[in-house]
Amino acid sequence: MLRKLACVVLGPLLLAACGPSGGGGATSWKPDYWGHRPGPKGFTTVVLDAGHGGHDSGAVSRSTGAKEKDLALDTVKRVQRKLGGKVKVKLMRSNDHFIDLDDRVDRVSGKGGTILVSIHYNAGPSSMRGPEMYWWRVDSWGLATRLQRELEKTVPGESGNRGQVRRRLRLTRNPDIPSVLVECGYLSNPSEARLCNDAGYRDRLASAIARAILDQQANGDPPGRLPPPINKPPSRPTDPPGS
Ligand SMILES: [Zn+2]
Repeated sequence: MLRKLACVVLGPLLLAACGPSGGGGATSWKPDYWGHRPGPKGFTTVVLDAGHGGHDSGAVSRSTGAKEKDLALDTVKRVQRKLGGKVKVKLMRSNDHFIDLDDRVDRVSGKGGTILVSIHYNAGPSSMRGPEMYWWRVDSWGLATRLQRELEKTVPGESGNRGQVRRRLRLTRNPDIPSVLVECGYLSNPSEARLCNDAGYRDRLASAIARAILDQQANGDPPGRLPPPINKPPSRPTDPPGS
């Protein structure tokens, strides 16, 4: 869950924007600072980030009572097991505690050969269902594409969702490594919420996520034109929605 709902939950706790620039200042950056390069191949480490945690539950399903923070942590651990031995995996959090978004960014920035995959469950109008991928940097497009494709193969009856979305969020814009935020499904859709509450279903989601990560590691970006670069300053909690 992100944007408006996430802001309600997280808003008062967010710190000032991370990163050394404080916005602008592009002339002082290396050419690839903004991530304007092909996606990674042969990366050695995957940081799996379970969204929310602690006092921040994220989305809560009205139909099942499940909390996004718990489903995300369970999913992350399943992905970790499936990636075991094939790539080094680090968990941003391995239990139920809160980490500020800017702290999450700080923990991965500067780590060469590393990608960040942040796992969430969504909330919105009850008719919406299905996976969505949020990305910003050019070097994150391929991974987002692979993740969306693999999850769409796994998720039944998706409809009305946004699919793959290029959006300047703190977890997609601010890390200096490739980064994708995965929304596995809508807890606000009663049918999808029931699916997401099932351990076997989450295991299939985790398999899809792991396949996409390993495909990216082995092959780099999928065929297709890279998206154009967009130079924008780091995302801040005070940015207007959709900016
Ligand atoms: Zn979330």
